[in-house]
Amino acid sequence: MVTVIQENDQKPDIQEQEYDVVIMGAGFAGVCQARHLLLKIPNIRVALIDPRPEDRTDKDLKIGESTVEIATLFICKELGLYEYAIENHPPKYGLNFHWAKDSLNTESVNDYYHIWANRQPPMASIQMNRSKFERDLIAMNKKMGVTYYNGRVTDVDLTPGDEIKTVNVKVGSQYFNLKTKHVIDAAGRKFIIGKKTDNIQLNPEDLFGVNTGSVWVRIKNVDRNLFHDGYDPTMGSCSHYYATNHWFGHGHWLWMIPTEIDSKELSIGVIYHRDTISDDQMNTQEKFHAFLKANHHVLYNLISNSESVDFHYRPQVASFPSFVNLVKTFIDKNLSFSIIPNMRLSFLLAAKVILN
Ligand SMILES: Cc1cc2nc3c(=O)[nH]c(=O)nc-3n(C[C@H](O)[C@H](O)[C@H](O)COP(=O)(O)OP(=O)(O)OC[C@H]3O[C@@H](n4cnc5c(N)ncnc54)[C@H](O)[C@@H]3O)c2cc1C
Repeated sequence: MVTVIQENDQKPDIQEQEYDVVIMGAGFAGVCQARHLLLKIPNIRVALIDPRPEDRTDKDLKIGESTVEIATLFICKELGLYEYAIENHPPKYGLNFHWAKDSLNTESVNDYYHIWANRQPPMASIQMNRSKFERDLIAMNKKMGVTYYNGRVTDVDLTPGDEIKTVNVKVGSQYFNLKTKHVIDAAGRKFIIGKKTDNIQLNPEDLFGVNTGSVWVRIKNVDRNLFHDGYDPTMGSCSHYYATNHWFGHGHWLWMIPTEIDSKELSIGVIYHRDTISDDQMNTQEKFHAFLKANHHVLYNLISNSESVDFHYRPQVASFPSFVNLVKTFIDKNLSFSIIPNMRLSFLLAAKVILN
């Protein structure tokens, strides 16, 4: 039932809708939360809001593809996506770590010391193509009855307890007031509720001295022979290419994650300590390539011989200590809001649910 409220002659019409739960943000946390609710509570009315188009174009590609085992367990068991996960996202055969024996000589994998995953991990996990996952989950959620608002939350009232709250949404030139008892903030780094309640701490002293930046590229049609003359233990059949590979050097580490099987697509990026490596040395694709040429020639060769998909630069990234320390208060008895600040935290919450 839609009520049209005419506020006055100047202001636009505002449509009012009612839901049991309103989820702000349809990233990993939002789409999983919606599906979880739909599976657990029959006939629940859920609204999902996100400004990104539901078919997630290349522009909407997101980072964060290597899932930990508990996340895949949640995706399979709690979200019922066993076959979907295997059929749509590359497998993850553990973690490999590589350190150059001599930082001036990094031509091949054999120029590195390693820690290899020597067996397939006992619990499966996947390397997730994030835009595909979000696109697919939005479609599944819509089939199960979710209303998707392809727009932006402009405000939310924080009426305490079980009182009805209002989430203001703008979709193009249309305005909506969504009435609900339960609001979930899954808007990632926008921290809609966290900012409103002054519950976010990003002061340098709260981050334990972590001051990191990141750049990454996506490439496709890569030469997957990279590891073929490397470590090959008897009885180990896991592909080192389909692991999450980490490469280390002074003041930085790199990830290398396959994200598409057919197009042989990889995400390669660096987290660098800004006290050691300045943003000026990293902030363009050319500079990133030059950095690889100087520090990890083997990866420079890999990138040079493949097709470029895109390049991203984020001068400030939160790191693990800040996840823990990010919010001052996780649970406020006076509010019935859930705060899901990031993917890993939602895994921890999921883990708690599973273990209970
Ligand atoms: C460099 C880097 C590497 C990483 N690597 C990994 C990794 O390998 N593995 C891993 O598990 N994690 C990784 N992460 C972390 C991971 O990316 C995040 O934890 C994850 O994306 C958080 O998901 P989310 O759904 O909370 O937020 P997001 O994915 O950011 O989704 C938030 C959504 O909210 C929407 N939104 C924003 N504002 C509004 C608004 N006003 N109204 C409505 N919607 C709004 C956005 O459009 C977006 O779709 C990495 C992070 C970085 C920076």
